Amino acid sequence: MIIAKSAKDLDKMRDVGELIAEVRESLRGMVEPGISTMELNNAAEKMMRDAGAIPTFIGYHGFPYAICASVNEEIVHGFSKTTPLKEGDIVSLDMAATYNGFVGDTAMTLPVGEITDELKQLIRVTEECLELGIQAARANNRVGDIGWAVQQHAEKYGYGIVRDYTGHGIGRQMHEAPQIANYGRPGTREKIRVGYCFAIEPMLNLGTHETRTLSDKWTVVTLDGKPSAHAEHSLAVTADGPEILTLTKEQKKLRAAKMSA
Ligand code: MG
Repeated sequence: MIIAKSAKDLDKMRDVGELIAEVRESLRGMVEPGISTMELNNAAEKMMRDAGAIPTFIGYHGFPYAICASVNEEIVHGFSKTTPLKEGDIVSLDMAATYNGFVGDTAMTLPVGEITDELKQLIRVTEECLELGIQAARANNRVGDIGWAVQQHAEKYGYGIVRDYTGHGIGRQMHEAPQIANYGRPGTREKIRVGYCFAIEPMLNLGTHETRTLSDKWTVVTLDGKPSAHAEHSLAVTADGPEILTLTKEQKKLRAAKMSA
């Protein structure tokens, strides 16, 4: 069952969304050659706890870290490591916090120093797919419309669209119904209603869409070893359209200005 959120719930979703967005933006400013994902993880955990929030990932089905840090061919659920990131790497940082009983979930993929044009495009298109998916998350649309919006854009570039992992409903639980695949047919699946909250998260691969899981039982990598990018926002479906929850106050202002221009 998809749980529609009340106005009160939505305010709490906004609070936790902003909180985790602040953490994400702090990490964005830290990523550079030489820093390790363990340092990023520790900083993220500290920021969440200092803000009075719980790092949702820690202990989730036994996951040991506050963030998922997935480098290059790692798609999602990567473990933080003390190995420094290198110039030319790309790193996906996925994080979630629980605050006042509600969860915010967000991810981004960042270049480490200078990266190739091929990787820049992969990251850019992943972000574009996220935006298109968000725009499809409107009342009276269907969940399949979101997947279709992501798929049709990713396919223009020939990217492998990860099928084994999906976006999801979000609220008091990190993972609520429905599953939100990054492919789909328009007009199919559940009808979208005001009050639904979703985490949309395209995962695009430079090569095959196929995945495998490493022996740590968590880290998901591309089957062909080619790089992968991932971007995620949590959003609320409102009567006025999709509202991204995982933006900082500053980003919300900028987005509102852009949308009304
Ligand atoms: Mg998620």
